[in-house]
Formats: sequence, structure tokens, C-alpha cells
Amino acid sequence: MPTDSFVSVRQVYKRYRLGETLVPALRGATLDLHRGEFTALVGPSGSGKSTLLNLVGAIDEPDEGAVLIEGRDVAHLSDDDRSRLRNEKIGFIFQSFNLVPVLDVYENVELPLLINDRIPSSERRDRVMQAVHDVELDDFIRHVPDKLSGGQRQRVAIARALVTSPLLVLADEPTANLDSGTTQRIIDLMLAINAHRGVTFFFSTHDEKLMSRVARIVHIVDGVIVSDEPGAGSRDGADGVARGAGTGA
Ligand code: ADP
Repeated sequence: MPTDSFVSVRQVYKRYRLGETLVPALRGATLDLHRGEFTALVGPSGSGKSTLLNLVGAIDEPDEGAVLIEGRDVAHLSDDDRSRLRNEKIGFIFQSFNLVPVLDVYENVELPLLINDRIPSSERRDRVMQAVHDVELDDFIRHVPDKLSGGQRQRVAIARALVTSPLLVLADEPTANLDSGTTQRIIDLMLAINAHRGVTFFFSTHDEKLMSRVARIVHIVDGVIVSDEPGAGSRDGADGVARGAGTGA
């Protein structure tokens, strides 16, 4: 099905098998994301947010319906093409940070680039240094996660998501487990990256502070998208971006 959307989720159903029963996680979810959008996915626990993020991230496939990325049905891609899509176009920020404890900041950020053996080592180094610089962690580059604050760890996770220069960043509760000052700085950082590089963001959240800054809020309940409306951040404009410069989390 042709589409102009960057991501198009079409009447998607997803069920998980739990013993003898099938648990419905998505029940006909439909959604389009356009380039450069900054969208929050909001809904109660168990409503299907993580499932939807996994489908949009080509980590999982729908039982029915389709997920199209740049017009291509993810289910029709070969395993290699799907891996390349995930690795080159999509960045993931997980709630629990998922940093490797024995690796330092540099090595954690470098990981996604090591999967792609076409990147020469000098370019790899430049990209890692730039990503670490963008999240203002230059002084911590040889620290292991254990020696970092929660906000610093989250910034490592953001640098790791951005190091491949993705078009789309998916995040599962990116500001959960952070104190309020750190939360503001992480939001500022994400908005700055969105505004200056045009990176599309799609993330689940319960955080009022984050919801008040987004341009679009999609509500999901029981695996169905029940509303899709502009957020207060759509009125933030350049002002919101200006506040986005600099972080100290
Ligand atoms: P949310 O992220 O909004 O909390 P999820 O997408 O994680 O929601 O879950 C949606 C529904 O699917 C819930 O009922 C959940 O229990 C169920 N579910 C999610 N993952 C699995 C799984 N791996 N096995 C069985 N059920 C699952």
C-alpha cells in the first residue's frame, strides 16, 4: 500500500500466547508518523505501548495488519534488510538504559557501530566522540555506568541511540526513574536533537513534564488508539528549542 508517511501502522493486531490463552496486546492500531515529528504515546500500563514501539522498531511483527517504514512493509523485508533498517535508521532508548556494565561510556556508545563492519575505525571513533560530545559527557568518556548518575546514564543511552545518525528514535519511558531537574534536561536534549537534526521521536511516557512539551500526543487504551491530538509543545516552537540548548543532567 503506497504511503507518504515515514512510519505507517495499519490496522495492526498483536497477540501474545500465555499458556493456553492468547493475550491481545494490539487490536487494530492505526497510526502515521511523519518525518521530524516529536510524538508521545500515552496509555495505562498494559495498553500496548511497548508492543507498538517494538513493531515500529521492526523488532517484532504484527499478527495482522502492516507496519510500513518509508513505504516498505517490514514483514516483507529479508532478515538482513530488517537488521540493516534497525541498525542504520532507528535508534532505541530503553527505560532501564540497558548499558553494558563492564564497558565504559565510549565503548557503550560504540556498540551499535560495531555491528556495521562497513564503517572504518577512524570514522567510528569520530562518530562516537561526536555523540558523546552532543550529550556533554566528554569528561566521563572512560567511566563505566556504575560511576555515573541516572541522568548521565540516560544521556549515554541517548548518545548510543544517536551514534548511527538514525532518522527515527524510539524510546520506552525515556524520563522514568529520573529526578525532576534531570528530566527537564533530558527533555531539552531530545527536543534540541529533534529541532536541529530533524530526528523523528516516538516514545511512551507517563511523565506530565514531558507530555507538556510534545507536539503530538497519541493515546492508546486496550490496544486501540483512542485519540491523536496536538500537544502543548506544538505551540512551543523555536522558543522551546532555544531552551533546549545545553544540558547538565
Ligand atoms: P504497555 O507497554 O502499555 O505496558 P505492553 O505492550 O507491554 O503494554 O503489553 C500489552 C499487553 O500484552 C499486556 O496485557 C501484557 O501483559 C501483554 N504482553 C506483553 N508482552 C507479553 C509477552 N511477552 N507475553 C505475554 N503477554 C505479553
